[in-house]
Amino acid sequence: METELLSPDEAGLQKAAELIRTGQVVGMPTETVYGLAADATNSGAVEKVFAAKGRPMDNPLIVHISSMQELGQVARQVPEPVQALAEAFWPGPLTMIMPKADRIPPETSGGLDTVGVRMPAHPVAQELIRRSGVPIAAPSANRSGYPSPTTAQHVLADMQGRIPAILDGGTCSCGLESTVVAFDDDETVRILRPGFVTKEMMMEHVPRVVIDPAIFREVSAGERVASPGMKYKHYAPNAAVTLVEGPAELFRQFLALQQAEGVYALIFDADAEQFPYPHMTYGGTSIEQGRQLFARLRELDQIGAKTVYVRMPQKDGVGLAVYNRLIRAAGFDIVHLAPRI
Ligand code: AMP
Ligand code: MG
Repeated sequence: METELLSPDEAGLQKAAELIRTGQVVGMPTETVYGLAADATNSGAVEKVFAAKGRPMDNPLIVHISSMQELGQVARQVPEPVQALAEAFWPGPLTMIMPKADRIPPETSGGLDTVGVRMPAHPVAQELIRRSGVPIAAPSANRSGYPSPTTAQHVLADMQGRIPAILDGGTCSCGLESTVVAFDDDETVRILRPGFVTKEMMMEHVPRVVIDPAIFREVSAGERVASPGMKYKHYAPNAAVTLVEGPAELFRQFLALQQAEGVYALIFDADAEQFPYPHMTYGGTSIEQGRQLFARLRELDQIGAKTVYVRMPQKDGVGLAVYNRLIRAAGFDIVHLAPRI
């Protein structure tokens, strides 16, 4: 099959919505990353998403809606904190897990009795959901295990010949996947995946927010975790990634010792001026890093990087999301540099 790049104009949106309605899979821009979109209520369509990605069948898909009226069609029950969080952060990069309605088949929910729901802010995603007339299941549009796509060209690189069409909505403004939360009880929000909506931001709207400790560690395939996605290899380019913690000067000294064919550094914008070794930069602030990280990991593969040493990002606020993606891209290979005393 040829994969067609569609402009997000009248004709492109019409064609994409028709594909969704007839059980096909379409590359869809959102503000987080590009998704592989299918009718969330059609198990055959959803199976095509898993096949195109090579995704394990027990890893559930996020269901995307375009209005609060649609929430009742996908959720059987809406936990207490959802209303306040939806008012504050929807449409936007927040996914909330709740008991699923019967209309959502087990293929979509990875066999779970719950469903992760999000209302995306990207106007093209909203328009596609509206025109399709169904809730849209969409995981990130990369081949399973690889960095998420933040441009239509990234989607094409991974999905050429595997899906009929991609809607080109430009570069994603967040660049990292949504924050995923579950609800322990009526008071407590649990972060299962950090993102652009941070703990501090949610604390302004709900009594208690906790960060699931599994975010920070390697989870084995057999383990029971709150979010099946935590078990799998994620976000990793072909190059071997190592995360390096320490001040700029020590990082430079460390890189001097690693020099060999195919070795690159991924550093902050401010480090670049005095950095004499092959490198790329991934922004300065955490928000910039979130926006650029996945694109840089893909570019490093393209220029033939074999080994990439990444300067450790900040671990608070949006930085926690950048850190979470990087420790997984690195397969938890982390070097801590300390000055000699
Ligand atoms: P992706 O589709 O690549 O953005 O990944 C979606 C993430 O949300 C994965 O880590 C899933 O495991 C998680 N997720 C989606 N639905 C649920 C659910 N019902 N329960 C727990 N985690 C979920
Ligand atoms: Mg993904």
